[in-house]
Amino acid sequence: MDLIVARNRTDLIKARGAGTIALVPTMGALHEGHRSLVRAARTHADQVVVSIFVNPLQFGPNEDLSRYPRTFDADLEVCQEEGAAVVFAPAVEDMYPPGRQVSVHAGEMGRIVEGASRPGHFDGMLTVVLKLFNLVRPDVAVFGQKDAQQLAMIRRMVADLDVPVEIVGAPTVREPDGLALSSRNRYLSAEDRQVALALSRALRAGAAERAPARIRAAAREVLDAAAPELELDYLALVDPATFGDVPESYTGEAVLAVAARVGATRLIDNMVIALG
Ligand code: AMP
Repeated sequence: MDLIVARNRTDLIKARGAGTIALVPTMGALHEGHRSLVRAARTHADQVVVSIFVNPLQFGPNEDLSRYPRTFDADLEVCQEEGAAVVFAPAVEDMYPPGRQVSVHAGEMGRIVEGASRPGHFDGMLTVVLKLFNLVRPDVAVFGQKDAQQLAMIRRMVADLDVPVEIVGAPTVREPDGLALSSRNRYLSAEDRQVALALSRALRAGAAERAPARIRAAAREVLDAAAPELELDYLALVDPATFGDVPESYTGEAVLAVAARVGATRLIDNMVIALG
C-alpha cells in the first residue's frame, strides 16, 4: 500500500479509511524509537496514522524550536517502510489559524518535574495532542515511555476530559550502549555523546538499589561524577501516574527520571523501578 501524505485537515479527512485507526504523534526526525511505536500501533488497529508536526506551542522562548531537526523525506520513507497508511503533516497555520483562544491547561501535574523546567510545555503538548485526536479520531494512540511524564499527562487528560481514545505506552528504545534514542541526539558531538551515557548509567545504578533514598543517591553519584560536562537539571523518583515524589515507604512501580544538559543539548531519560 502506498503511503498517503496529508498536508492539511482536508487531505486528512479524504485519507481516512473505513477500519480502526491507531495514531502515532511525532515531531519528525524519526528514529528507531519512532519505528517501534509504528510497529506497536499496527498491532492495535487496521490503519496507522503518523503525525509529523513540530508544535511551536510546546517550546519555550529559549528552547530549540528553530533548530529542531527536520528530515521530512527520510521520515516519509520510515513511515512507508513500517507500514503506516497515512502521514499527517500539517503546516503551523493549518493547525493554528488566527484567532485561537482556547487551549488545554495541564494543571498542577504540568508544573512539576519536567514541567518545572519547561513552563507551559505540557499545556502546549496536551493542546496539540487533543487537536490531533479530534482531527484524526483514532481508536488507539501510541506514546513512548521515553517521555514518561508526557504519557502520564496524556492518560490524565483522556481520563479527566473523557476523550474517547485508548492510550498505549511503548518501551524506550536504546542504543546498545544504553543511550535512549532521541531526535536531539544528533546535536551531540562524539565527546558529548560519551558524557550523555551518564544518564542511562545513573538510571541503572539507581535501579540496582531497593529503597527510594538509596536509589536517588546511587543515581546522583553517577551524575555528579559526570559534572561539569553534564549539567544536571533534575533527578526524581516519582509515582508513574502523578509524578509526585515517592515516600520512603512506597511500594509498587516508581519512575526514576532525569534531565540534564550536555553541551547545548537538553536530554531526558527514565526507568521504571519496582519497589517493595
Ligand atoms: P517526539 O518526536 O520526540 O515528539 O516523540 C514522538 C513519540 O516517540 C513520543 O511518544 C515519544 O515518547 C516517542 N519516543 C521518542 N524517543 C523514543 C525512544 N527512544 N523509544 C521509544 N519511543 C520514543
